[in-house]
Amino acid sequence: MARYNGSVCRLCRREGTKLFLKGDRCYSPKCSVGLRPTPPGEHGQARQKKQSEYGMQLREKQKARRVYGVLEAQFHRYFEKAEAKRGITGENLLITLERRLDNVVYRLGFGTSRPHARQLVRHGHILVNGKKVNIPSYQVDVNDIISVREKSAEAERFKALREGTGRVIPKWIVLDAPNLKANILALPQREDVDTTIQEHMIVELYSR
Ligand code: SF4
Repeated sequence: MARYNGSVCRLCRREGTKLFLKGDRCYSPKCSVGLRPTPPGEHGQARQKKQSEYGMQLREKQKARRVYGVLEAQFHRYFEKAEAKRGITGENLLITLERRLDNVVYRLGFGTSRPHARQLVRHGHILVNGKKVNIPSYQVDVNDIISVREKSAEAERFKALREGTGRVIPKWIVLDAPNLKANILALPQREDVDTTIQEHMIVELYSR
């Protein structure tokens, strides 16, 4: 399935919540969720009717996919791996999503949004343990060092971040802002995932 190239604000309106896909605009009064809180399209208002259980589970899965920018097939693979692991499947799934390199780059504030962070990774601006990694889905591990490539660090955007990235850094990552470097202290836990995803509904959907 191809990656969605339309207006990302439509995705937020479809899910009825902010997915934070557009950087600074998401934190401004210009955010479309606040301005036009109905689902997009001609019949958006009509679609606000009560949803079936299946419909709600489907929406929850779509929301998770869209927040983390993961295609359907890969999301399903994440679910299968989460199910095969010990522990609670839903939590395993969210932790796998949270460990993606593009998510970590976003969480550090190097990227203004997850799509921007994915682009930074793709374009080779990010190093893991001193080596370029341009795979957004790369799973970070304990003791990994995430940094900005020396040449990229000279760009104005990154220079400004040396003063601090303005993000609340989750407790499983330690950021050394002046050096644009971060250390993965531990693997994330469920309470470190700050999205409003109800993962049990995704598990119920795939268990049908
Ligand atoms: Fe979503 Fe951000 Fe657009 Fe608001 S501005 S609708 S949060 S992508």
